[in-house]
Amino acid sequence: MVETINLSSEIKKQLPAELVNFMRTAGEMARSQGQSLYLVGGVVRDLLLGRTNFDLDLVVEGDAINLAHQLIRINQGKIITHPRFGTAKLQWNEWSVDLATARSETYARPGALPTVKPGSIKDDLFRRDFTINTMAIELNPDRYGELLDLYGGGSDLEHKLVRVLHEKSFIDDATRIWRALRYEQRLSFQLEPATLDLLKRDIRWLDRISGDRVRHELELILREEYPEKILRRADELGVLAKLHLSLKGNGGLADKLEQARQISSPDLPSVGLYLALLVYPLTTEESEQLISYLRLPKSVAEAVRDTISIKTKLESLANPELSPSGIYSLLHGYSSPAVMANSLAADSPVACRHIDLFLSKLRYIKPVLTGEDLKRMGVAAGPRIKEILNKLHEAKLDGKVSSKKDEEELVKGWIGN
Ligand code: ATP
Ligand code: MG
Repeated sequence: MVETINLSSEIKKQLPAELVNFMRTAGEMARSQGQSLYLVGGVVRDLLLGRTNFDLDLVVEGDAINLAHQLIRINQGKIITHPRFGTAKLQWNEWSVDLATARSETYARPGALPTVKPGSIKDDLFRRDFTINTMAIELNPDRYGELLDLYGGGSDLEHKLVRVLHEKSFIDDATRIWRALRYEQRLSFQLEPATLDLLKRDIRWLDRISGDRVRHELELILREEYPEKILRRADELGVLAKLHLSLKGNGGLADKLEQARQISSPDLPSVGLYLALLVYPLTTEESEQLISYLRLPKSVAEAVRDTISIKTKLESLANPELSPSGIYSLLHGYSSPAVMANSLAADSPVACRHIDLFLSKLRYIKPVLTGEDLKRMGVAAGPRIKEILNKLHEAKLDGKVSSKKDEEELVKGWIGN
């Protein structure tokens, strides 16, 4: 006889009261309709590990969209439904909850999106990536809090193992290869030995995954607390090479990402900087291959291009005689993550110092006088205005003028009055 584990006191301890009340209500509502409701996936795993996670995923053996509509009437929030998948998202106050109809999945061919049909909770848990993500907690009132552990997730969690559910798992969906490394490194677990063998065997199936899906996995990795751990492991196992043969996850990358974290500020999300550091070893041609494979959005693609383009200017930037306006002219117009990546990754200390001067000071220096001021001073409208403003900007960067009066004097000298 298997003993029942009840997690209701853990739920109460670890989750906000508002979410707990929501789950109680949802469970009662499901029961009144003769349906079963479960809390599933990452939040159950994290509840057992004592890690904070308020992203509730609920699965109902029944009709999730119908249940979601009833629940939102009580909570007065927003509802987004996907009838094709039988899923709904509820949002109210600061909370967001996903509800899905229990389903089973089959894969018509490797790497394809699955064919989905309604199923039992058992089917729904079996379609998941790793055993540690297959646990569920019953929410109906008569069994509230009971752990449903059908595939050995509890034991693997205890032994810190990432294990697939069956030997075709990575072939069905090779994005799970990236997911496996992400969980292994995030949680400081290990790939269970047979899973590790399957992963190595099936790396080639990553070729069947669309660039969009791979990009999504990469984004998830770069949003982790320590992406460098995952990238290093991916390099070691030959997974990173599937992204691009010339990428390197070992060696200096870890230090660079660590430094990137220290200088990151809210207006510079580290994800962009992490990506710039990751693509740093690529040539122009290679970076274009990566951009088109991953179908990077325009602004991200620009940051990648900028990163590589600045590399071609490092030799000029390493000249100790370079004036501030010279530094400015080499670096202005590039996206910040690209400039910062070069400051962290460039070999020449002089170039690094110049880039840092640009980032900390030069990029903020602008003349006080405007085009309007110049017109008032007698400069005719036209290209001459821009020319004078540029020369003035240069003079200011090089410390030749500081006050508004200085600027006016200088301009007067140029225009001859
Ligand atoms: P995280 O903490 O990374 O958000 P999570 O477990 O919540 O972890 P999600 O990406 O939010 O992960 O996915 C929710 C659940 O859906 C997972 O727990 C997993 O069971 C399942 N899942 C997600 N992607 C896959 C996949 N490619 N194959 C199988 N199951 C998946
Ligand atoms: Mg999640």
